[in-house]
Amino acid sequence: MVLQTIDLLRNEIPLELETVNLSEDFVTGLVLVDIINGFCTVGAGNLAPREPNRQISGMINESARLARIFCEKNLPIMAFLDSHHPNRPEDPYPPHCIAGTDESNLVPALRWLEEEPNVTIRRKDCFDGYLGSMEADGSNVFVDWVKQNQIKTLVVVGVCTDICVLDFVCSTLSARNRDFLSPLEDVVVYSRACATFDIPLEVARSTKGGLAHPQEFMHHVGLYMAKERGAKIASEISFVAAGKA
Ligand SMILES: [Zn+2]
Repeated sequence: MVLQTIDLLRNEIPLELETVNLSEDFVTGLVLVDIINGFCTVGAGNLAPREPNRQISGMINESARLARIFCEKNLPIMAFLDSHHPNRPEDPYPPHCIAGTDESNLVPALRWLEEEPNVTIRRKDCFDGYLGSMEADGSNVFVDWVKQNQIKTLVVVGVCTDICVLDFVCSTLSARNRDFLSPLEDVVVYSRACATFDIPLEVARSTKGGLAHPQEFMHHVGLYMAKERGAKIASEISFVAAGKA
């Protein structure tokens, strides 16, 4: 049997996933990273999948299921939407998710969130939602959201596991460690509700300046690096009724 690269990787940097039980004694917030058409809807733009993709559709289904539960429990949700000015490229990527286009809007399965009172939408023009939450006056919409809602645990989902999800998790954990995010304690990355894109090596080689980005491989690396910053990586998430934890 020939070992696939992903198997070699899993042998070299094995990742233990955990079942995370969220206590209803404390506030848990849900962060949705860039679950927008430009990254997730087939044919929607330069960085959208070219054909249906199992990891991406699984991510959308799990995110939508989780968002429904958070809305039913009236828990806070923040959705980051990649939204770029047409004249400000984001190297090394081609133009994508230009503000005002449908590429930068939530996918159809999540569009209903725009009407929910517990949902905060934040458009950002950079990879990292933490930095993308900064206002000109130095305040930070994400930091204020954590504090106002007294969020103790954050669940992070979306795309891409190894880019925007990872950058946000890294910044958030550094900020937490510096006490900028009190009372936040735990950051949980829910693996089944995260995804990344797929550019196999042979495709990258035939594209000028193309970077290889094998999907399962980079998803694993993204989760592993989040864990290295102190995030919990969950394979399952469930709620435990108040007083039962
Ligand atoms: Zn972008």
